[in-house]
Amino acid sequence: MDLKSIIREVPDFPKPGIGFKDITTLIAHPQAMHQVTEEFLNRFKKVPVDAVMGIESRGFIFGAIIAYRLNVPFVPVRKPGKLPAETISASYELEYGTNVLHIHKDSLKAGQHVLIIDDLLATGGTLQAACALSGQLNAEVSGIGVVIELSFLKGRNKLLPHCVESLVVYDSE
Ligand code: AMP
Repeated sequence: MDLKSIIREVPDFPKPGIGFKDITTLIAHPQAMHQVTEEFLNRFKKVPVDAVMGIESRGFIFGAIIAYRLNVPFVPVRKPGKLPAETISASYELEYGTNVLHIHKDSLKAGQHVLIIDDLLATGGTLQAACALSGQLNAEVSGIGVVIELSFLKGRNKLLPHCVESLVVYDSE
């Protein structure tokens, strides 16, 4: 199945010039979700995974499925003020200002291998912050999986030396 044909493209959202990749049409399609899940599992079958981190909020959908299928814990990466217990944080630059992400301090143990999942890789700042969170707890990133990669933004360069697996690639806006 051609996953790209199932992802809806919404021009000029949330602002003029942005081609928004809307995954609601993908998650509404059980056969496509099955394909996404099996493809992720296949791409990461050779790496050790002790936990899956998923990034708020669309990364939760895909990350939780992968964690369930691998029978490992799911670790939510959340925006400030959402996680109730003690957290650690990492910030990253946006076009205007900065964003911060948190995880619970006890959500990963030193030496654990973590697979990080999000819906989309754009500039890479979000996933870079997720890698930093894993690093702060001395866990090791064993892979990064995204459903969609906007390759023209070259976000994967920011994530080196980690291996990024993307299922659908857009090479222009
Ligand atoms: P970045 O930190 O630049 O890699 O941005 C990644 C995050 O922004 C992802 O979690 C996406 O949900 C969101 N995002 C960025 N660009 C788009 C886009 N064109 N369509 C949909 N979501 C996007």
